[in-house]
Amino acid sequence: MTSDSPNILLINPWIHDFAAYDYWAKPLGLLSLASILKTHGCNIRYIDCLNRFHPNLSKIISSKEDGRGSYLKTRIPKPECLDDVPRNYSRYGIPEQWFINDLLAARQPDIVFITSHMTYWYPGVFETIRIVRETYPSAPIVLGGIYASLCHDHALKYSGADKVISEDGEKVILELVKEYTGFSNNIKFDSGQLDSYPYPAFDLESKIAFIPVLSSKGCPFSCAYCASRYLNRQRMLRSPESLIDEIAYWHKKYKVIDFAIYDDAFLVDAKSHATPILEGIIEAGINVRFHTPNALHIREISENTATLMFKAGFKTVRLGLETTLFDNNRLDNKVSEFEFEQALLCLKKVGFSKKQICAYLLAGLPDQDERYVIESIKKVIESGITAIPVYYSPIPHTVLWEKAVHCSRYDLNSDPIFTNNSILPCRKEGFSWEIISFLKKLAAN
Ligand code: SF4
Repeated sequence: MTSDSPNILLINPWIHDFAAYDYWAKPLGLLSLASILKTHGCNIRYIDCLNRFHPNLSKIISSKEDGRGSYLKTRIPKPECLDDVPRNYSRYGIPEQWFINDLLAARQPDIVFITSHMTYWYPGVFETIRIVRETYPSAPIVLGGIYASLCHDHALKYSGADKVISEDGEKVILELVKEYTGFSNNIKFDSGQLDSYPYPAFDLESKIAFIPVLSSKGCPFSCAYCASRYLNRQRMLRSPESLIDEIAYWHKKYKVIDFAIYDDAFLVDAKSHATPILEGIIEAGINVRFHTPNALHIREISENTATLMFKAGFKTVRLGLETTLFDNNRLDNKVSEFEFEQALLCLKKVGFSKKQICAYLLAGLPDQDERYVIESIKKVIESGITAIPVYYSPIPHTVLWEKAVHCSRYDLNSDPIFTNNSILPCRKEGFSWEIISFLKKLAAN
């Protein structure tokens, strides 16, 4: 680094919500940007407001062996507009004073990058921005991430950031550094080639409990409830060699055992993409565990892919089923009943257990008859695997958005806070603990 290298602070903000849990969640995009900045000569500092392993903790809070775990939380007042929801509201992540102390321990930043995740978590982002602004009034603040892309105008108007970016951060980050600090360097990677990116800077974390990996970006499907196409217009693939090298790197250098595959479409075109990756992992003899929190495409699970996943060390196989109604009313066309049954046969045959195979089922969709959710849960259980009800969150720019706006008891267009799936925003009869507990109990059978 030279004395004129800019000081850059990157922040993963708090979550404000009724509930939150770390299911292999990490700000992969932000840590990828951190690495790009470091590679290009910037001084980097990272603060993770969700840090479950913060050095101030006298003991580790509830953590599972596979990397998942609880966040610290502080009860805070619920937004007034959600008064009808009989649930407690919290700030998830480190206490406010720890954050302020961490900020003060950093050198005066020349620019601050803050990411964002779920649209309805924006109050946590705004609070993060407010405290950064109070601590470093002259530092420019740039906001990116999912909320910033999906609710760009809202973020521009209310976030308090100096700039809100909706493009891929990799494409604009170095330009932004130049714009705000005057610093530039020769570009050492190609934003259109995933293989050319430096590995995300997980070494900035207090502890690496697991690593998320991405073998591809984007998805060729356009399910009515999903924003994958909007967020990643172009599908990009990484070569098997590059991904396997990265997994081996984290495993050897940092003894990481658990890896979460973050792809939206890992198994799509399996023959040319996932198959060589899985074969390469097996061949390299890397003894690790894989988890698939973002769900796998059921159609692509054959005896061959199932065998390779099992041998490669897949421990959590989440399937994007959404419903067991296989008719024209589906909101996607990614799986048929026959394909679902075949996939289960293959997964069980090669050795995956009932607990390891889980199917996501969507609940709380606009105009959805709850009897179908109940029926779907029962069918999934009958088929010998685990059912996970997932509550629908309306997402702007998706096909289902207008219908959600029409059906919701809230004015979804007025405030992204109403898109929170915990409040069942599109359920005609309103929020109900009874239905949530009933579906939870049913799925646990
Ligand atoms: S297949 Fe999955 S990632 Fe792709 S559009 Fe549908 S829900 Fe989204």
